[in-house]
Amino acid sequence: MSYVDEVIEKVIAKNPSEPEFHQAVKEVLESLRVVVEANEEKYRKEAVLERLVEPDRQIKFRVPWVDDNGNIQVNTGYRVQFNNSIGPYKGGLRFRDNVNLGIIKFLGFEQIFKNSLTGLPIGGGKGGSDFDPKGKSDREVMAFCKSFMTELYRHIGADVDVPAGDIGVGGREIGFLYGQYKRITGLYEGVLTGKGLSYGGSLARTEATGYGLLYFTDEMLKQNGQTLQGKTVVVSGAGNVAIYATEKATQLGGKVVALSDSTGWIYDAEGIDLKAVKEIKEVNRARLSEYTKYRPNAKYTEGKGIWSVKCDVALPCATQNELDIEDAKMLVANGVIAVAEGANMPTTIEATQYFQENGVLFAPGKAANAGGVATSALEMSQNSERLSWTFEEVDAKLKDIMVNIFAKLSDAAERYNAKGNYVLGANIAGFEKVVDAMLAQGV
Ligand code: NDP
Repeated sequence: MSYVDEVIEKVIAKNPSEPEFHQAVKEVLESLRVVVEANEEKYRKEAVLERLVEPDRQIKFRVPWVDDNGNIQVNTGYRVQFNNSIGPYKGGLRFRDNVNLGIIKFLGFEQIFKNSLTGLPIGGGKGGSDFDPKGKSDREVMAFCKSFMTELYRHIGADVDVPAGDIGVGGREIGFLYGQYKRITGLYEGVLTGKGLSYGGSLARTEATGYGLLYFTDEMLKQNGQTLQGKTVVVSGAGNVAIYATEKATQLGGKVVALSDSTGWIYDAEGIDLKAVKEIKEVNRARLSEYTKYRPNAKYTEGKGIWSVKCDVALPCATQNELDIEDAKMLVANGVIAVAEGANMPTTIEATQYFQENGVLFAPGKAANAGGVATSALEMSQNSERLSWTFEEVDAKLKDIMVNIFAKLSDAAERYNAKGNYVLGANIAGFEKVVDAMLAQGV
């Protein structure tokens, strides 16, 4: 049996009931097959793949807190520190009811390669809890965040592990978490990113993942003789990534006609009114169904179905496995030319293959959405320097980083005779740097 297949089997046997982690490992190792086969003897001897798929440590803890009725609630907290070969662990915290160890591990594993692709000195990690801030009062969210940090603080630090936001963790949660870290440790340091501007946050961090996704998509289109100008775009999700992807897509000349949330989706043929969406989602924290109150000509549909909308460019920006083979078939039949992942692993493996077989330009999340973590690393730099850069400075650096990432993966794909296979290119380019550092540092 090949080394890759052997390690995939071991991962499944050793980590039962973690399907998302299996999926992420399979996706990465399959595309590394060519590199691994070219170095099989050395990699086996060094147990490179076994070391890569086993996190440095997995921390699981109890998070007790008191709700507004005086009842004690207990959630589970996680931090998986996956690999710090090229820098301190770095990756977001996800607060959502479906969070479990397998999901955190899949995200942490992907993060290793994503962070490597940015070219910045950051390792891979991820964390979170099965706590959902939705429907909770500010006081309850604060109580939860304080309790969560009361355990997490001992495992993190500005040069050790620097968490950030993800689904369910925005500016409010980061503020509460930071306050508690500072209170316990007495340290005012860049231990979290995505902080508010008044206490060490970076300008353009809020926009970074969505903007970066579009800088990447624009570059991918340009290098393939296309442009975003005049293209119809569908974006799923209506959270941080989706909102700023919509904003930049519009600035670059595209027309975004659909957005979704966890209950339904909206279609607005005249182009999404982003001001209305920001008010619904960022201010009122309400459902997208409210959108038709602002735009009576738009249509709201309950449930799934956003990928049935005809478009040139599809940007899945909601959550994992939200775009399956049936969705991919609809998009291809409707003439989609490019798909770029704003979310982490939103496209199933079958759907990804279908796009690639049908000549659709496909950008994997670990490259296309790396702008968020890259800008987090820029926030870390500013914190270390005790300086704040302007929006334009950060945005220009972000753009450079995204264009460079595209060049790296395009080059890696070509080196392995797979021109245009950006999934393969991203995994190989991310892997090469990490493995080089791992081997240099010994066992
Ligand atoms: P948010 O919580 O801000 O937004 C998530 C959005 O997706 C919400 O609109 C939510 O709906 C919707 N959603 C969640 N689950 C589903 C579902 N099953 N079906 C349809 N819609 C759903 O998160 P972010 O925008 O920050 O993150 C989105 C994705 O991007 C995640 O995969 C995250 O890991 C990834 N990512 C985020 C980065 C960042 O900087 N924020 C960086 C890199 C990746 P509702 O409004 O109803 O809750």
